[in-house]
Amino acid sequence: MTTTSSSHATRLTIDGERLWQSLMTLAKIGATPKGGCNRQALTELDRQGRDLLTRWCEAEGLTVRFDAIGNLFARRPGRDDTADPVVIGSHIDTQPTGGKFDGCFGVLAALEVIRTLNAQGIETQRPLELVAWTNEEGCRFAPCMMGSGVFVGQLTLDDALSRRDAEGISAGEALAAIGYVGDDAHRPARLAGYLEAHIEQGPILEEEGDTIGVVTGALGIQWFDVTLTGMAAHSGSTPMHLRRNALLGATRVIEAVDAIAMAHQPDGRGTVGACQVLPNSRNVIPGEVTLSVDLRHSDGDVLDAMVAEFRQTLEKIASASDLALAVTQTANNPPQHFHPDCIAAVRRAAQAGGHAYRDIVSGAGHDAVLVAGVAPTAMIFIPCEKGISHNEAEYASPADVAAGADVLLHATLELAQQGA
Ligand SMILES: [Zn+2]
Repeated sequence: MTTTSSSHATRLTIDGERLWQSLMTLAKIGATPKGGCNRQALTELDRQGRDLLTRWCEAEGLTVRFDAIGNLFARRPGRDDTADPVVIGSHIDTQPTGGKFDGCFGVLAALEVIRTLNAQGIETQRPLELVAWTNEEGCRFAPCMMGSGVFVGQLTLDDALSRRDAEGISAGEALAAIGYVGDDAHRPARLAGYLEAHIEQGPILEEEGDTIGVVTGALGIQWFDVTLTGMAAHSGSTPMHLRRNALLGATRVIEAVDAIAMAHQPDGRGTVGACQVLPNSRNVIPGEVTLSVDLRHSDGDVLDAMVAEFRQTLEKIASASDLALAVTQTANNPPQHFHPDCIAAVRRAAQAGGHAYRDIVSGAGHDAVLVAGVAPTAMIFIPCEKGISHNEAEYASPADVAAGADVLLHATLELAQQGA
């Protein structure tokens, strides 16, 4: 059996057509009229998707198991089968108006890697595990990245299983109803490495004409709820100089959040995405406004500096506008830096395959961002049209899908051939 993949003359190639057909076949389960996919976690359609994926994995001779939160692991033995496995995959649940590629591309690219190795009779030193994480999207059951969150210990199993959807059904009940409750004894205890291929969900690769994003890490995220309280009063009888208009203060906060992010380019992000105005009446001066604030940066120190500037600015705005201020932090995830060896394997695979590539930082959350806390990890991005995702119009080209799977194949081989 050969294990060489480095020379161009004999470079192992995936079957792009087979991968594309698999993506289109999985997308039929939960297909929406506008060409997208609605296959939310732990629904009957999720069960059908899992059934199909299980059949495909078993057809390749993989041993399919599930852990207690329903994460799917499909194992291909290694030459040294006691060695820690290299794990590859993503998720197959979607948003209610999701696309065909978010998550599914990473899982089916992993399947294509295994199909290619099987077709060529290539053994790896380490075992491989294909993974499909449960409930990455978090739209039916919060939080997102539930399966990987339980896997890495960020969330307890009991906590995850007790989360309820809008109908009051718990995640545990829904998981049992689709018949995918497994056992934690089935999941790998330790990972030699984790690689996740994913659509970029942003516009950078397309804009720059690159095919592969070598993902070096993910932005740190801090979330806040800000409440500004003034005085609700009659819009006609209250003179301008006597007003305590909470919405006017809020507009200054929105401007400031944007300015802080703009002052920390290219990686700074600042967003006010939700705003609640009380009493929200045409002829009443707004008495109270609550804003959501989302600040992100790739560098933890810079992010902390952005947050400090944000807090100071808030104080200034509140006192200048004669408003009471309350700030609650609702999330604080530090930036994640992926593992240098895994990043290097992805970069080498992109280069050897002749793909146009660049380093990129993920602005979105992914299962890989959590797994990076417990195992050497990296990600591979491919472009998606106009950066559109979480939308039925989401699209990645067959050529880019094939390129991403090609890079996943060769990066996986590099990690899996290293001595255990
Ligand atoms: Zn995803």
